[in-house]
Amino acid sequence: MSWNATVLTLFPGMFPGPLGTSLAGRGLERGLWSLEARDIRDVTTDRHRTVDDTPFGGGAGMVLRPDVVDAACAAAMPEGDTRPLVFLTPRGMPLRQKLVRELAAGSGVVLLCGRYEGVDQRVIEARGMIEVSIGDYVLSGGEVAAMVLLDACVRLIPGVMGAAESAEEESFSSDLLEYPQYTRPAEWRGRRVPEVLLSGHHAEVARWRKAQAEAVTRERRPDLLNTEQGRDASARAPLHAAATPA
Ligand code: SAM
Repeated sequence: MSWNATVLTLFPGMFPGPLGTSLAGRGLERGLWSLEARDIRDVTTDRHRTVDDTPFGGGAGMVLRPDVVDAACAAAMPEGDTRPLVFLTPRGMPLRQKLVRELAAGSGVVLLCGRYEGVDQRVIEARGMIEVSIGDYVLSGGEVAAMVLLDACVRLIPGVMGAAESAEEESFSSDLLEYPQYTRPAEWRGRRVPEVLLSGHHAEVARWRKAQAEAVTRERRPDLLNTEQGRDASARAPLHAAATPA
């Protein structure tokens, strides 16, 4: 059974984009996951295929209409579709590896990409969307954010990464950033690879890597050290609860 992603967007031509190459692209070709990009405009019924309107209360820009977004969700998610519906937005909870793991372990995901000023809040609530941000900056649309989320999920789908690549020890697998990596030559421009890595002593290498991971995390991301679980618990309900439409 493959992992199925549906993207609701005003720019379906942006997909698969970078997801069509390398690991994700090979996984697509091999049917380990599927990707459907649906044009939100396809559900409109008026001559101009209108998807947006001006914000109540005034202000710049346009807002995606709740009736249009709802119809796009309904068309993309047939009765019984239990995939979580995620709205990419800078107002959402930060995308973390824990959420990526949960999404990758399910049957897939439906992603809503905003444009302009965003999406009417009522349809976000009525459909029980999980609001997710990929970082504290503003993109012009949700498509690149959707690609980021999909890339992170797809590489965890069984069979997508070969034995040569492994997610077991990489950054965030244990709330730590990864230790530094080195390859040949053992000396480059006067810089030597740490001796312990050349020793062939597996236990010492593991100890050194753990110490390095802890040190770099303390220095660069001390926020990670007060545990991912704790932060996530306060940030959101479990995935299955959030995915149930109201
Ligand atoms: N007015 C919105 C705000 O201030 O929160 C920003 C709208 S942005 C120009 C248009 C769309 O890009 C958003 O609806 C969202 O789908 C997407 N987007 C922008 N930044 C994002 C981020 N950091 N993470 C996820 N999606 C983002």
